[in-house]
This record gives sequence, structure tokens and C-alpha cells, in this order.
Amino acid sequence: MKVARVRVSGKTSTVVVKGRSVHLVRGGPFGKLAPTGERFPLSKVQLLPPTQPSKILAIRVNYRSHAGDRPAPERPEPFLKAPNSLIGHGEPIVIPADAGRVDAEGEVVAVIGRRAKHVSEERVDDYVFGYTAGNDVSAREWQAGDGQWWRAKSADTFTSVGPWIETDLGPERIPVRTRVDGKEVQAADTSELIHSIRSCIARITKYVTLEPGDLIFTGTPGTTAEIRPGVTVEVEVDGVGVLSNPVIAEEPRG
Ligand code: MG
Repeated sequence: MKVARVRVSGKTSTVVVKGRSVHLVRGGPFGKLAPTGERFPLSKVQLLPPTQPSKILAIRVNYRSHAGDRPAPERPEPFLKAPNSLIGHGEPIVIPADAGRVDAEGEVVAVIGRRAKHVSEERVDDYVFGYTAGNDVSAREWQAGDGQWWRAKSADTFTSVGPWIETDLGPERIPVRTRVDGKEVQAADTSELIHSIRSCIARITKYVTLEPGDLIFTGTPGTTAEIRPGVTVEVEVDGVGVLSNPVIAEEPRG
């Protein structure tokens, strides 16, 4: 099942996506998903980020193809991205004027469905609501030069997710591809992860309580590509769909 958050008829609603139409359901995405009977063409709704997370965690260097000469981390190494950075399908990624090089990082994203603390690897699937596509937008010069990644990874619009959540996917082998203006720049699947999605989430919950809607970016493969104002970047996750965002320059101030 594909579950989305949309803006339609002046309201924000949770919907189930079926083909080219969306069916409104009562309450949020983690309830019974009981249909209201209302439906709209997909083309007539604005897709929003599929959840409103209390926090977003992302795993650094989790594909050998991305590690290059760096040693593979011995255990999952999560970092935090802030919710202010979140955008949905179709919204622009805004590059600050002084950001320097900014790259796309196409990733499979796990969506937490139940409060999770001290969850063993074997039980992680019970706490994952589904999977979506994500772009962990990264300003490389800020990432290398700042003491913390607060703006390199969490500047406004630097976390894109969507277009919706697929609830019927297992984590073992999910293909993910990134394209810039239609040209493929990254391709891998989650069987190539250094640390499995289950082991990453289990480790996080040892220290951090995950809440419904929280998002876990699972790592990016290969060599990432720069995104400049004027391009469109797409992250495709098989079984989910294509997350697409135009890239624009920040408006000059005063
Ligand atoms: Mg990343």
C-alpha cells in the first residue's frame, strides 16, 4: 500500500495512492487508514513530506562503494538531520549563495510506525511502517570545514522525502538510483549496505527513542554528483516510485 500526505481542497490529509488517484483516509498515516469515500486525481493534489518527523537520522558511509579509501565504519554511525530541512516531492531544493559545492545523496529511507526503544534487530520490522525515497542533500565544503554538520546537512530544503511510503517492502534488497537531469549518477541496492537497515535501527533505539513518523536515511552509494541551480534531481526506489525536486538558487538578500 502507498500512503501519502497531501494538500487538497485547502486541507492536509492522509491518503492511500491507487494508480492515478488518491483515496482520503481518516486520521494520520499510523491509524486504521479507514477510507472517507473521497477521492481525487493524483495530478490535482500537492504531495507533502509523507510524515512530520520529530527527528531524522541518517547513516554515514554505509556502502563500500561510497567509502572509497576510507575504512568502512565498524558499526552504524548515525547523525541527525533537523526537521526544518524537510521538503516533499516537487518542492525546490534551494542552494544558499555561499554554500559552495552541494551534492545529492539518493537513499532508501525507513519510516518508523511505532514508538521504538531497545528494539532487537530481529524485531525491527515490527516498528517500521514502510519505506520511501530520500535525498540527503549535502554541502561538501561546509561538511568538511565546519565543526558540526548543522548547515551542511540541515540547511532549509536539504532533506527531500517522498513521494509516498510503500508499506509492503522488506529491507533486504531495495534498489535505489539517482538521476540528475535524467542522467543516472548512482545505482545500488540495500543488499550492498555495510550495516543492514535492521542493525542500524536496532543500534539507534539503544540510545534514542524513535517515534512514529521518524525517518532513517540508510546511506548513499557510490560517488555522489553535484547539483546546481537549474537541474532536476530524481531518486528512484523500486517499489516506491520517483522522488523529483528542481534545484534553485537562493534569492539574493537585500
Ligand atoms: Mg547520506
